[in-house]
Amino acid sequence: MSGDKPSPAYIRRAVEGADLNAVRVALYHNTGDASLAELPTAAKMDDAQRALLIDKAVAWLSENAGPGELPEPPLAELRRLMNMVTGGEMGDLEFEARHQITGFRPHPFTASWTAEKPALPKGFKVAVIGSGFAGITTGVQLDVLGIPYEIYERRAEPGGVWSINRYPDVRVDTASITYEYLFERGHAWSEYFGRGPEVRAYLAEVSKKHGVWDKTHFNHDLKHATFDEARDLWVIELETPDGPKVVEANFIISCSGLFATPHIPRFEGQDEFRGRIVHTARWPDDLDLKGKRVATLGNGSTGVQMLGAIAREAAQVYCFQRTPQWVSPRDKYGEPMEPETIWLARNFPGYWNWWRYSATSNLFETHQIMLIDREWQAKGGLINPVNDAIRADLLEYIKRETGGRQDLIDKVTPDYAPMSRRPVVDNGWYRALTRDNVELVTEGVERLTPKGIRTADGREIEVDVIVTATGFEVAKYLWPARYVGRDGDDLHDTWDAADGARAYIGMMVPKFPNFYMLYGPNSQPLSGGPAQPVWFAIWASYAAQGLVRILEQGKSRIEVKPEAYERYNSELDEEAKKLIQMTKEGGVEKNYYVNNEYGRLQVNAPWYSPFYSRLCSQVEWDDLEISNNNMEFAALSGESKENAES
Ligand code: NAP
Repeated sequence: MSGDKPSPAYIRRAVEGADLNAVRVALYHNTGDASLAELPTAAKMDDAQRALLIDKAVAWLSENAGPGELPEPPLAELRRLMNMVTGGEMGDLEFEARHQITGFRPHPFTASWTAEKPALPKGFKVAVIGSGFAGITTGVQLDVLGIPYEIYERRAEPGGVWSINRYPDVRVDTASITYEYLFERGHAWSEYFGRGPEVRAYLAEVSKKHGVWDKTHFNHDLKHATFDEARDLWVIELETPDGPKVVEANFIISCSGLFATPHIPRFEGQDEFRGRIVHTARWPDDLDLKGKRVATLGNGSTGVQMLGAIAREAAQVYCFQRTPQWVSPRDKYGEPMEPETIWLARNFPGYWNWWRYSATSNLFETHQIMLIDREWQAKGGLINPVNDAIRADLLEYIKRETGGRQDLIDKVTPDYAPMSRRPVVDNGWYRALTRDNVELVTEGVERLTPKGIRTADGREIEVDVIVTATGFEVAKYLWPARYVGRDGDDLHDTWDAADGARAYIGMMVPKFPNFYMLYGPNSQPLSGGPAQPVWFAIWASYAAQGLVRILEQGKSRIEVKPEAYERYNSELDEEAKKLIQMTKEGGVEKNYYVNNEYGRLQVNAPWYSPFYSRLCSQVEWDDLEISNNNMEFAALSGESKENAES
């Protein structure tokens, strides 16, 4: 492209490489050209229809391209346009959950005051714990409300798991167009699936741009937090480079993440091993695998993502697989994002919005895939028609990618249903297994020896480095930080005395007032819905609604009622029973979604995601107890406002 005005050929390339459903609706949105509404969705277009759409878009862009945003259409029209993207009708529940994903509003999914902002009690402050995707969203939400906050982040930079994970080839495995904030969109990603360092840089940029960075205390590790019942605030003990520090906050919103503390296995004989053991979440800067013999343990999203890169460096790789995974491809994974695509997103008003919606809308369709269809099974099916079709496709994929090597096919094919675990995205994993310098080892690790690993069948494999891609301590939520609520109750002791970590809508726990968790127990949406960054915004807005309510009412405490917590959790357990995750067909025993100690779904929200979205958006105030122990708050609800925030 030369100068500011792209050539017609450049525009054509941009349109031809674009999401044609988004092109069609963005063009219709701009022009109202009725013939566009007559076209089917891209998958159903014939060549002539596709050519017509492309020609129309190129012609319009040649005249009109330029930066700009479209206003959100009236809701009925918005719904019609959304239906045009998918080529189907949606129900009210679905529309409610989806419509803000189109991102026409400056701050979608964000809570606001119901009337004028009230005066805040002097020194009122929210402590946000963690500065990853969730913490930054929460900061922005609080900023929109004008509520003072400080973030305490244990690392030296923002990014959360994107700061932690620095293993070879780390990158997102959901398309970057869906993995950016709705309030900070249209990032010029280098690849369709952005690499780790770029995601980290994006988060740092957003944090700075929105003033979150300035309110973040880096290298501040929350060790202990105690609720002071007399004053209705949290006393927070932090470890910092300058020693211990104590701060106070009226509220805590924990954004400390699900993937924060690595699961580091211990093996017999580990201290004898003379090589190096590295967890993927603790990747050392100085680790050079060139010419080394490497064992990799773990083939979840991380292990699968890194294998090819490690195999290209190392002399020999032994890939230890404990449980096979369904590993599936993604369109445009690993491909650079063309400058034309970035240009289009920035110069075709509405295109980014409809692209984002188009890329996300299919994520809503996954719930049924995880439900067992007994009638289908009675007819000889395995799970349900769609799940079985996915299995058939993936079996073909495995065959193709392994070059038909039956020895590998037998070992890597799971005996449980696809979609019952977190989908693992292929980064050339199967192909890496076919390399001369890679061996797939399915015997378990018996012990480590000075020179390497002894497997259960007595073989000794000599290695220089063992890479453990063994995941995170997901079931321990917030651990090792300790939280002490009312009556001196310790959060983890409370959970341990029952059946593990639970919460009300994943966020609140009785006797822990003014405390919200984002990405808490049973909150990971099972069917992705609007993609993870949006869920963080939804959860942050749920917590913000609690803040708004107590501040508008001049109250100082908000807490979930025990009966609401119990009811929610028993409904959740019932719902979970319908899912393949909890069945033998779904490989229940070794799934980090499931807490096998207590035999229950632990990580996921089992709900149909639009319904879950409603649960997290529309606060059931009757489930919550709002009260007042802090006279300063009470004064503000009355006539005297002299204590108000300066
Ligand atoms: P993971 O899914 O929990 O996988 C851990 C792997 O380690 C499994 O293969 C597990 O085997 C194995 N393992 C655990 N303990 C072991 C032991 N003692 N001996 C041998 N093998 C052991 O962890 P992850 O791969 O780090 O992924 C965690 C999550 O991070 C993902 O689900 C995803 O949500 C996220 N992630 C995302 C991306 C991305 O691109 N966006 C990349 C990486 C991770 P079993 O299956 O037998 O338990």
